[in-house]
Amino acid sequence: MAKFPEAEARWFRNVFVCRNCKAKVRAPILKVLAGKISCRKCGSKVLRTKRKK
Ligand SMILES: [Zn+2]
Repeated sequence: MAKFPEAEARWFRNVFVCRNCKAKVRAPILKVLAGKISCRKCGSKVLRTKRKK
């Protein structure tokens, strides 16, 4: 995966996963937090960040 923590953080912060249908949505975190992003597939606004456990 990414070599630098910084690059990795950038990658993971901009990718969200729909909790409803698990579709990946790439969007700036600010827009997601503002509730302006909804899932393309099912229209759900419940997104979580893509993160390693
Ligand atoms: Zn969805």
